[in-house]
Amino acid sequence: MERTERVKEYLRAVPKVELHVHLEGSIRAETLLALAKRNRVALPVATVEEARQWFAYRDFAHFVEIFATVSTCLKTAEDYELIAYEFGAEMARQHVRYAEVTFSASMHGFTLGIPFDTYFRGLQQGRARAKVDFGVEMRWVFDIVRAARDGRLVERADYTTALALECRREGIVALGLGGSEAKGPPELFTRWFEKARAEGLHSAPHAGETMGPESVWVALQQLGAERIGHGVRSIEDPRLVAHLAQQQIPLEICPCSNVCLGVYPSLEEHPLPRLYKAGVPFSVNSDDPPLFNTTLNDNVYALYEPLHLSFEAIDEILLNGVRQSFLEAEEKEQMEREFRGEMRRLRGELGLDE
Ligand SMILES: [Zn+2]
Repeated sequence: MERTERVKEYLRAVPKVELHVHLEGSIRAETLLALAKRNRVALPVATVEEARQWFAYRDFAHFVEIFATVSTCLKTAEDYELIAYEFGAEMARQHVRYAEVTFSASMHGFTLGIPFDTYFRGLQQGRARAKVDFGVEMRWVFDIVRAARDGRLVERADYTTALALECRREGIVALGLGGSEAKGPPELFTRWFEKARAEGLHSAPHAGETMGPESVWVALQQLGAERIGHGVRSIEDPRLVAHLAQQQIPLEICPCSNVCLGVYPSLEEHPLPRLYKAGVPFSVNSDDPPLFNTTLNDNVYALYEPLHLSFEAIDEILLNGVRQSFLEAEEKEQMEREFRGEMRRLRGELGLDE
């Protein structure tokens, strides 16, 4: 096998962590069609091929619209259990051992009127079965949706924060902030993040994806962000890049998503190598893999080709996923030891240490 092929095999098989992935954006096209059929929801597409074409985005607003439409296909606890369980199966296939999964609770409970007990029971059931069947550990990030068709920002933010706090001992680790950055700047959400942090949740808002570095500064200063979802446009402000590196504030980078939504025209033009060189810590993630026709492994390969990082550097980025997670310190240490051991073994098997 050529060396490049062996490196790719290594990157496919190496253990991983995923910190930025949306459950609703991870539903397979086949499952989406089956859910729409069994719940009698009319979708604009009838086949997997048509669904893939439907997922060809014009811009972020188009993506948000599809994300919301996909969510209308979920009705019963069994539906939620199915998507959480299938998510675990897909993680296992890609050798992901642990995932912090974003779920937009207010869209289901508040906008679509699904009772909390229904969707959360399903999610927890799917999570538990995925752990037993695949050994994949999952935690939840409940994100406040910045702007929705109902316009009721305060009620949605109250709803999400209250539930995230109530269930923080049942696998919810952080409060997130998602949806259209242009329609909901971070400063509007300060009080909910203050409350969540004061009561023990972590802070992991999206910022610096469709909006510029100013949104990242505000997320840090007003929302107490411990990690930034995306944050790639921090590269436009050298002072911010230096701050992230000095303070070791991690970004959750999703290269294929950024290209798919037109944040950057191609992977070759993605700022990831420059952020790496500047010492900004980050993990690599998939965001909404089937909606972007990608996988976590595709995002990891992209670091090697076309982004030209060495595979030793990629190992450190994969371990960042463990170190930057919201697991307890001892859990992180143990997972990092296991990952390092498996990395050594795989390198040996594939002759990558020569
Ligand atoms: Zn995201």
